[in-house]
Amino acid sequence: MKNADTAMFHGKGIGKNTYQYFTSQMNIAVKRRMTLESALRRAVLQKDFVLHYQPQVNLETGEIVAVESLVRWKTEDSGTVMPGDFIPLAEETGLINEVGEWVLREACRQNKEWQDRGLAPRRMAVNLSARQFADKAFLDTVIRVLQDTGLDPKWLELEITESQVMRQTEGMILLLNRLSEMGVHLAIDDFGTGYSSLSYLKRLPIQKLKIDQSFIRDITVDPNDAAIVVAIINMARSLDLETIAEGVETQGQLALLRSKDCRVGQGFYFSAPLRAEGVYLLLQAEQPLRPRARARPQRPGANPPRREHQEDRRTPARGAQLAPPGRECVAVRILSALAVRSAATARRVSPAQLPRSSANRASLR
Ligand code: C2E
Ligand code: MG
Ligand code: MG
Repeated sequence: MKNADTAMFHGKGIGKNTYQYFTSQMNIAVKRRMTLESALRRAVLQKDFVLHYQPQVNLETGEIVAVESLVRWKTEDSGTVMPGDFIPLAEETGLINEVGEWVLREACRQNKEWQDRGLAPRRMAVNLSARQFADKAFLDTVIRVLQDTGLDPKWLELEITESQVMRQTEGMILLLNRLSEMGVHLAIDDFGTGYSSLSYLKRLPIQKLKIDQSFIRDITVDPNDAAIVVAIINMARSLDLETIAEGVETQGQLALLRSKDCRVGQGFYFSAPLRAEGVYLLLQAEQPLRPRARARPQRPGANPPRREHQEDRRTPARGAQLAPPGRECVAVRILSALAVRSAATARRVSPAQLPRSSANRASLR
């Protein structure tokens, strides 16, 4: 009977109008899931999560205009677990509301802490899952977290995916309006993957479209992707929406995006997601910084492997933030050059007045 149940649940997971015979593999899968689920429950109780933060960069000036928070689960046995490997389970089990509230609170707290430490205020983006968004208590949670942390709502951005907004229930539109009236910024994540229409975008108080990284990946080699990106940028402009390109990895992608008038980008080319202290140093720096983000060589047609685990492990401790001389990567040099340029502009000094090494970097552009 238990085996029949297992087969039935397996069948339900596959979809409607299907049948499944029991196999011993199913038991293994069920056991693995149960182990993972109880580990996740424990993690929620113990708050075994950490946020990493990825800068969003003005493509013209190199200035960091906002930061996106990305959650990781710290485990003793398996190291860091990436969101793609546990958010779906958290959603299925309903644990996402607790995980999500922890993320929201920590992201707001961190942003306020940076402001209190004297950094210029910037928006902090927080990803939301569909289930959080459908939760009736969600608005109250946002209000409470903002009150508790003292963060001005205008420095919070909530990212929802296109498929979430496409459901467009009355409740959801009310919620978005309410958040927007409070001053919270709203962005559509992974835009372009959900077949959305202009008419529904116009009905929503959204400020920003994040162009999905699948379009950016081959933008320099696939004219279709380039055309889609241009169409999104133009459409967004006509609706008075900001756009940001996700997953910028190469100089070629950056150049093309800039030529198409895309103003903001995010990706490994500028910086991998970093721990709070690493981002603090980047945000604080008036001098050129040398974060250890690495540009990836363009491999036409290749699907890049997931390497975020390495990115996160590579995140240097505070003292190790400066890369050894002579080992700067291209992205770092350009970021440094941009930082020099904006520092020079801010202080109204010419590159000739800068120290020789900085002036050299500034000339890289
Ligand atoms: P997302 O919100 O679209 O976040 C961008 C993902 O792309 C991140 O993966 C980031 O590390 C990765 N990325 C950034 N730059 C590049 C790049 O240049 N190339 C490539 N190939 N990837 C890049 P991560 O951290 O594994 O997050 C994956 C997804 O998990 C996120 O996609 C988001 O949908 C979800 N997620 C992350 N944190 C949270 C959270 O706190 N709550 C919820 N509900 N979902 C989250
Ligand atoms: Mg996101
Ligand atoms: Mg995205």
